[in-house]
Amino acid sequence: MTAKRQRVTILGATGTIGVNTLRVIADHPDRFEVFALTANCNVALLAEQCRRFRPRLAVLGTPQAAAELERDLASDGLDTAVLHGEEGLVAAARDVAVDTVMAAIVGGAGLLPTLAAARAGKKVLLANKESLVMSGELFMQAAADSGACILPIDSEHNAIFQCLPASGSAALREPDSGFRKIVLTASGGPFHAQCGLELSTVTPDQACKHPNWLMGRKISVDSATLVNKGLELIEASYLFATPAERIEVLVHPQSIVHSLVYYTDGSVLAQLGNPDMRTPIAYGLAWPARIDAGVQELDLASIGRLDFQPPDLKRFPGLALGRQVAEARGAAPVLFNAANEEAVAAFLAGQAGFMEIPAIIDRVLQDMECPPPASLEEVLDIDRQARKLARQLLRGA
Ligand code: NAD
Ligand code: MG
Repeated sequence: MTAKRQRVTILGATGTIGVNTLRVIADHPDRFEVFALTANCNVALLAEQCRRFRPRLAVLGTPQAAAELERDLASDGLDTAVLHGEEGLVAAARDVAVDTVMAAIVGGAGLLPTLAAARAGKKVLLANKESLVMSGELFMQAAADSGACILPIDSEHNAIFQCLPASGSAALREPDSGFRKIVLTASGGPFHAQCGLELSTVTPDQACKHPNWLMGRKISVDSATLVNKGLELIEASYLFATPAERIEVLVHPQSIVHSLVYYTDGSVLAQLGNPDMRTPIAYGLAWPARIDAGVQELDLASIGRLDFQPPDLKRFPGLALGRQVAEARGAAPVLFNAANEEAVAAFLAGQAGFMEIPAIIDRVLQDMECPPPASLEEVLDIDRQARKLARQLLRGA
């Protein structure tokens, strides 16, 4: 048991990762206390979470939602302060009282508060991969300057972190670490070639039914297009200071081997486990200790076999684009992410086809030429322009 409890902010508490984080925290009240919880618009769930975990601060997307939560909590006599909007999120992320920030907002909306946590030197549990994809070197530099510890929660990156010697990325810069390459595994999503489905006919409900993981709708679509693996290639390249050429992708439909690291002596280290995000979440929360995550023990005999195959880049052009972008760096990851978010939102709203997602990303990458962003303002500016162009293309303008 630790002497002082870790004070945790959860950005995106009402999402899949947020809810699982609270499940792990609830099992270890001696180790963790909740400082702040945030959500976009789900007042009912955030109110329930506040009643249970009694945070000092809660944040919602709009003043109306915040007022509704305030009334709700006041009727129960809770003294949780309620803020709204980006300022509220940033306050929750960088408050001096906070030790650990779980960054689990989906998409670019998480960039400012996640970067604020990194700048404030927090322990950052990074689920919100889009924020790192967008701000890349700026984000890693901010963490290096402040001494923030960035622990990946994305299951593949968490696996890689566990398979690298001692302190994650720093080890790769040691010439004698023997590091050769990273292999990111991918479930392949629901639409592998054998499923027989013509991808242009895929509906949002089909795309959101992931075979192994229960996730929010945006990342479920990303997993179905394999754009998620493209985002993860970029994420891994920044997090582990490794060129994209030394990161491979391998399809592994059972999602048991979460990723692998190859070494020059022929050793290959892998991390295995049931596909349950509470494992990487518990790892990040307790690191460097390990705690019970409440996850079922892995039973390899009953699984019987583990399959691996190369990804089908023709069927999933989003992954091929992701690799190009990971190699190019500069502004390309910002464009890739912005175009994808806009195209996925249109697809989920029934306004775009499934295969329009990689097509729009490709067009935005081809049509926009931007120098590498040198500041957060430049990142946000490129992001805005790319979203505008993607929306125009989606409207057929
Ligand atoms: P989700 O959609 O279930 O939850 C998203 C959370 O973000 C919610 O709490 C929502 O209220 C909040 N949010 C959404 N838009 C917001 C906005 N504009 N402003 C403020 N808050 C906002 O998503 P999720 O599946 O929990 O994923 C969260 C992040 O974690 C994503 O970046 C995803 O890629 C990453 N991730 C998720 C999984 C998983 O298994 N779910 C695995 C790896 C990585
Ligand atoms: Mg992942």
